[in-house]
Amino acid sequence: KDVDVMASPLKPFLTSRPKIPPLPVDFGDRSVHRLHFNECPFPPSPAVTQAIAEAAGRLNHYPDAVWSDLTHAIATEWDWPQDRIICANGSDELLMMTGQLVLGPGDEAVAPGPCFANYPKSAAAQGATLIQVPVRHDGGIDIDATLAAITPRTKLVFVTTPMNPTGTLMQTAEFTRLAREIPDHALLVLDEAYYEFGRFEGGGDHLPALRDRSGPWIVLRTFSKAYALAGLRLGYALCGSEEVRTAFDQVRIGFNVNRLSQAGAAAALTDPGHTAMILENNKRERERMAGALTALWCRVLDSATNFIAAELPCASPTVVSALRAEADIWTQAIAYPGFENFIRISVGGPEDTDALLAAFPGILQRAL
Ligand code: PMP
Repeated sequence: KDVDVMASPLKPFLTSRPKIPPLPVDFGDRSVHRLHFNECPFPPSPAVTQAIAEAAGRLNHYPDAVWSDLTHAIATEWDWPQDRIICANGSDELLMMTGQLVLGPGDEAVAPGPCFANYPKSAAAQGATLIQVPVRHDGGIDIDATLAAITPRTKLVFVTTPMNPTGTLMQTAEFTRLAREIPDHALLVLDEAYYEFGRFEGGGDHLPALRDRSGPWIVLRTFSKAYALAGLRLGYALCGSEEVRTAFDQVRIGFNVNRLSQAGAAAALTDPGHTAMILENNKRERERMAGALTALWCRVLDSATNFIAAELPCASPTVVSALRAEADIWTQAIAYPGFENFIRISVGGPEDTDALLAAFPGILQRAL
């Protein structure tokens, strides 16, 4: 039977299907260089594996619906009130919940362009419009243009630091201005998925500026990056007020974080030595990669995170395909107008950098 697509209740989603096929997550037995998802190249701390094994013995019981042990561990780690933390199935879930909470048809959300793929999804799912504000030449968020893009219809503003996909760190003075000048009718979402890397580079703490903000706000962080737990799916939000924290209860499903994830994430915070090893490796390998690409006439944006964005002297999709086909190195081209020559490469372990640096010069030369 023919389906009338225009009459379908799925119409908004059928017409806004992503054009780019998703990149693979699993490669079976093949060992490839996974530099396309900003994952951590190392396995998690042994403390995590042990905690998960112990929690597995109690899988017949539902998990703690308010994540008590985990929020206690997070509250202690960042000196933040435990009753103003929300945990979720990755910060991805929090991004979707945020849209559900404040957006509806006709509303606007503001985000940098390019930005993380789930910001457009969060807005589109609610029938809202996402206004993307092009980043500066150095990859940083344009503060003036962001503020200028806000209208009376703006209900949500996404700010990312360190920024994905450019890697840049926002200065404290810049963020302070945003926190102060974004009007109270917009929920400010500060996405700090790469916070631990930024801090390791001397990046500032934005919570003091947020405490002075009169309007609503949340900060998003994750265990996916610096704690090597992308597969566990654990993100959390620090909420600016009790009101914001309670509002999230209206849109979230009960038991949204399973028992294994709660136990594993809390255990990750007990092993700061493991996180320090990850941060040190990341800085060393990122600097090797950035130095080599700069020497090859690429413009590498300043990165304070676990990936670099580089402008190549040619179109990046050709290079991304060749790296994949010739060296099993998986990277991403940045899909955004004006970024046709940009590649995003995650930082891996030393052997990933070695493979990249061996393959890159020849591939680049042939692509020119
Ligand atoms: N925000 C940004 C900016 C990201 O880059 C990512 C993951 N790549 C996320 C959020 C989602 O992270 P999580 O794994 O916690 O869902």
